[in-house]
Amino acid sequence: MTTTHHFDLLIIGSGTAGLTLALKMADQARVAVLSKSQLEEGASLYAQGGISVVLDKADSLQSHIDDTLRAGGGLCDEEVVRFTVEHARESIEWLIEQGVSFTRDDMITETYHLTQEGGHSHRRVIHSADATGRAVETTLLDKAKAHPNISLFPYHIGIDLITTRKHLATEQNSCLGCYVLDIKKDQPKTFLAPVTVLATGGAGKVYLYTSNPDVSTGDGIAMGWRAGCRIANMEFIQFHPTCLFHPKAKSFLISEALRGEGATLKLADGTRFMPAFHPQAELAPRDIVARAIDHEMKRLGQDCVYLDITHQSKEFITSHFPTIYKRCLKFGVDMAKEPIPVVPAAHYTCGGIMTDMRGRTDIDGLYAIGETAHTGLHGANRMASNSLLECLVFADAAANDIKKRPKTSLPADIPHWDESRVHPAKEAVAISHNWDELRRFMWDYVGIVRTTQRLNRARQRLSLLQQEIDEFYSQHHISNDLLELRNLADVAELIIESALQRKESRGLHYTLDFPETSEKSAQNTIIAEKKPT
Ligand SMILES: Cc1cc2nc3c(=O)[nH]c(=O)nc-3n(C[C@H](O)[C@H](O)[C@H](O)COP(=O)(O)OP(=O)(O)OC[C@H]3O[C@@H](n4cnc5c(N)ncnc54)[C@H](O)[C@@H]3O)c2cc1C
Repeated sequence: MTTTHHFDLLIIGSGTAGLTLALKMADQARVAVLSKSQLEEGASLYAQGGISVVLDKADSLQSHIDDTLRAGGGLCDEEVVRFTVEHARESIEWLIEQGVSFTRDDMITETYHLTQEGGHSHRRVIHSADATGRAVETTLLDKAKAHPNISLFPYHIGIDLITTRKHLATEQNSCLGCYVLDIKKDQPKTFLAPVTVLATGGAGKVYLYTSNPDVSTGDGIAMGWRAGCRIANMEFIQFHPTCLFHPKAKSFLISEALRGEGATLKLADGTRFMPAFHPQAELAPRDIVARAIDHEMKRLGQDCVYLDITHQSKEFITSHFPTIYKRCLKFGVDMAKEPIPVVPAAHYTCGGIMTDMRGRTDIDGLYAIGETAHTGLHGANRMASNSLLECLVFADAAANDIKKRPKTSLPADIPHWDESRVHPAKEAVAISHNWDELRRFMWDYVGIVRTTQRLNRARQRLSLLQQEIDEFYSQHHISNDLLELRNLADVAELIIESALQRKESRGLHYTLDFPETSEKSAQNTIIAEKKPT
């Protein structure tokens, strides 16, 4: 017998977006929050830099808006940008009320220390030392654990949304909840609620190299797409130029601050290459540095390049970069004596499920917030530290909207997850092989520098993989890895199709076949709901 849970609100994802919404709703609703791993695991936990907010007197809301629009390469929705920027201060005040401790300038004036990051023309990034995400995530999680109306479900992975159109054959499409796999018990469950929210984060794991944690497999985007949502701007994937390259080092960023302190990028033979690409050399904008590294790696067929900061003393390095120093040393690289092997890595998914300014999607009763959503804030390129802000502002906007919804009851005849026609998989190698293959061809053919030929090559490979995955999925019991692989394949399809549709280079999408930006193409790429297979 399948277990069924009933809640007023079902939130899939326990990152900054999901927990903010849960806390804002919990006094009025019984809330379930699902996380497919430990509760704190997600991109939020690893955010280092901070959250953008206008607090300095010399700064202005208009300047934050202008910087965001400039970074977004002509595709930001100006109304959304203004809304987000105008709600930043109250979002930060709310975090402070919850107990998040941000770094102060000094204890006498009690002002907060603000840093400046790429694209911002003022100091406006509030932070908690170099571990802002951890401070936010752990504070919100402690609050959620203590709230009697919030039920937390770690190791519960959403399989597919339950919709009236698919499961009750209605014309109009409403969301009724989600089928969920309890990973520890290996047991499918049914979660029902009049409102469901996708807060599942980004999709960096679709690429071989990523700064994202393992949970960032684009599940919400894939589930939303399959259920009937439109998806926008998936070609705009932000790559961070320097991630530690080591077979065993997963997802570790080497901060831009090293280049700020004079570190240079070199090839294996010691040649410095950035001056040939940009007058600012290593301090060129992120996407240009990432593109140059990719170009050199592809030209020479090399696995990585090297970041050299050995001109600085060991004392300087260990005092300025203690975490990076320790982490590199753990993998046998003494950065005070030798260059660090680095590769660019997929970092942020600018596109996602299309929502309005209240987080509503195309499906009644379904919302999307955080990195999984496309609100129109980021356009063709996200400005640093605007993403945690988006999580906070749109969780609040969604909460305000959900509170106003009339109470509805759910139909009685919702079917349970049906496993009667599948059998246990005999071996997992097909799944792990396809995981690896998908992430590698996405890296090689749909990465930082694209061509139409490479994208078509990826499309062909993906189509074969999708046939295998669909066959495997229809015949076998589900598992966490199989669900993630299926979602990654859907996300890969969205990225490839969006990239093929954009016949220009803009923001984070760069193709050698259309290297110029075209005014005619200054619009979002929208992919309609997925056709059933
Ligand atoms: C290394 C790094 C540094 C960053 N630094 C900054 C920064 O300084 N400033 C900034 O603004 N942004 C930064 N970002 C981006 C920012 O951290 C993310 O955009 C943001 O945290 C996303 O929050 P979220 O709540 O949408 O998702 P996440 O925090 O990723 O949470 C996703 C949640 O969804 C759950 N989930 C996913 N799929 C399922 C499923 N199928 N079923 C159940 N649960 C599921 C996960 O388990 C997790 O709980 C950084 C990102 C990285 C990776």
